[in-house]
Amino acid sequence: MSTLKTQFNHVKNRISCSVKEFNREKGSVQLLAVSKTWPASHLRELAGFGQTAFGENYLQEALAKVEALDDLNLTWHFIGPIQSNKTRDIAKHFGWVHSIERSKIAQRLSDQRPENMANLNVCIQLNIDDEASKSGIKQVELMSLAQEIHDLHNLTLRGLMIIPAVKRDPEQQKATFKHAFDLYQQLAKKHPTVDTLSMGMSNDLELAIENGSTLVRIGSGLFGKRSTTKNTADVN
Ligand SMILES: *Cc1c(COP(=O)(O)O)cnc(C)c1O
Repeated sequence: MSTLKTQFNHVKNRISCSVKEFNREKGSVQLLAVSKTWPASHLRELAGFGQTAFGENYLQEALAKVEALDDLNLTWHFIGPIQSNKTRDIAKHFGWVHSIERSKIAQRLSDQRPENMANLNVCIQLNIDDEASKSGIKQVELMSLAQEIHDLHNLTLRGLMIIPAVKRDPEQQKATFKHAFDLYQQLAKKHPTVDTLSMGMSNDLELAIENGSTLVRIGSGLFGKRSTTKNTADVN
């Protein structure tokens, strides 16, 4: 078996074990394969095992893969920071955006979504630990940004995305995930289109699933460790 196949099976297994262990509904947690820095050939191999959802952080790199894999029926999720000059291509080539943190960006994505495409699915990125250096909106701004997105014609508000700060204490990490789940439920109550809590990565997917994640974003757990030189070379 190829390494990628072994790792894919392992991740799928971790997800299904957690779903069972924590009494989550079968099929209620989606796997997003985070493929930044990896070549299109790796994504193609993973698609051969049945993986259809891929997450990318860097637009130029992503667009090359979207084009190279055009013959496959993949769903592309944009999960990186977004500058205004990138919105047109994101609106044209992606099905989902997880990293909305400003109404200006949401507005542009809606305006630039091509007429013949279904609505762009979006999640608001929340700065759950209120870290000064981190992306994402503050909690106090969540409901007003959600309302603005709700009012935009070509976007569908699907939920929240969080990237928690690394914490040594698992109980603290758990509290953060629980807090995110509470906010997600409040959002879903107000906006019935909300059904996605994008939470959990390679190191903490079990804890995220235990606490209500509906989508885990897995990079290194699937593809292996990213090389740092490649990472820095990938900035748009
Ligand atoms: C890179 C990245 C991931 C994947 O992280 P791993 O630890 O490699 O699984 C998930 N989410 C976001 C937003 C990322 O940038």
